[in-house]
Amino acid sequence: MLDVIVIGAGPAGMTAALYASRSNLSVLLIERGAPGGQMNNTAEIENYPGFDRIMGPELAEKMYSPLEKFGTKHAYGIVEGINDCGDYKEVKTDSEIYQTKTVIIATGCEHRQLGVKGEQEFAGRGVSYCAVCDGAFFRNRKLLVVGGGDSAVEEALFLTQFASEVVIVHRRDELRAQKIIQNRAFANPKISFLWDSVVTEIKGNKMSMTGAVIENVRTKEIHEEEAGGIFIYVGLDPLTEAFKDTGITNEDGWIITDTQMRTSVPGVYAVGDVREKELRQVTTAVGDGSIAGQQVFQFIEEQKDPKTTV
Ligand code: FAD
Ligand code: NAP
Repeated sequence: MLDVIVIGAGPAGMTAALYASRSNLSVLLIERGAPGGQMNNTAEIENYPGFDRIMGPELAEKMYSPLEKFGTKHAYGIVEGINDCGDYKEVKTDSEIYQTKTVIIATGCEHRQLGVKGEQEFAGRGVSYCAVCDGAFFRNRKLLVVGGGDSAVEEALFLTQFASEVVIVHRRDELRAQKIIQNRAFANPKISFLWDSVVTEIKGNKMSMTGAVIENVRTKEIHEEEAGGIFIYVGLDPLTEAFKDTGITNEDGWIITDTQMRTSVPGVYAVGDVREKELRQVTTAVGDGSIAGQQVFQFIEEQKDPKTTV
């Protein structure tokens, strides 16, 4: 019987594991891939206090390295469900069933697809959701970036180091991204914008994509934009399929918690991007993780002696 299982080793899960382990609890951190979460797909992070700017994977490594020292165990696995057995929970992965007194869900989210013709057909042959992973394949090519949020604009800036030009296609006439990121994009000579525009189809030949059909949503004008690649950043969906039967999510799948990161199931917590929250950032993920990591200690103490106030 473990004290805590943390599901997901992004910044939220790693911080929760750190805090719980430092309280001398037995902690198992289960991750389906490499530790680091979305930081592994981020070129540079410049809004994490203490670092002027740092590569995402480097920050991931810095967060992961102290965990072993404090006794966190790490297992590879894809969590498929949680069973609430009253005093304890069962966490089922693709290969094991673990028993634990508490669970901290830190599974984050995944990129949303556009859902247009050609998107799946040319995935990996021009269509990408990760500039850090695929940007270097597009040296001296013209690229499209879809979306107007932080991800789209920041990754468009990143892509300018490889691409001959980057066209941001956004469905409105103003960006959602933070002003500082917007201003950099407006000042970058390699970046241009197609405002009030949506991609309706991605086209290509047998080898790879060759362009996209763009519709102006105001004028209804349609044209084909030639491009060697398209990077899609149209938002995120929560990774909560494994928890859909627990009653802890809202109608869109985000997990509802209180300010102590407690879900409606006693002993089950949620932290980071997977929560219903306003600001999804590394800083807020880390903040959530520290709160939950400390809350599980109090919960376990209270179970030992129900008179203890939390
Ligand atoms: P994640 O980082 O998403 O980690 C979740 C982890 O859970 C993943 O490792 C995943 O593999 C694992 N997991 C999921 N499901 C399962 C399962 N069933 N079983 C086992 N493991 C599972 N924020 C900033 O502050 N600054 C930035 O510059 C910045 N740039 C960004 C750039 C991009 C392109 C994107 C998409 C986001 C960026 N963000 C940035 C946001 C930031 O990355 C997230 O807010 C943060 O990573 C959330 O942390 P998390 O731990 O909640 O989730
Ligand atoms: P986001 O903020 O949800 O933005 C998604 C963008 O895609 C919006 O501009 C949206 O348009 C557009 N969009 C949505 N659906 C679309 C569709 N079907 N067709 C065309 N366009 C569509 O997502 P994100 O940019 O990935 O950011 C996710 C989170 O990570 C945010 O909390 C963000 O702050 C954080 N993040 C932070 C940083 C950083 O701090 N540097 C970097 C990256 C991400 P509308 O604007 O019209 O809604």
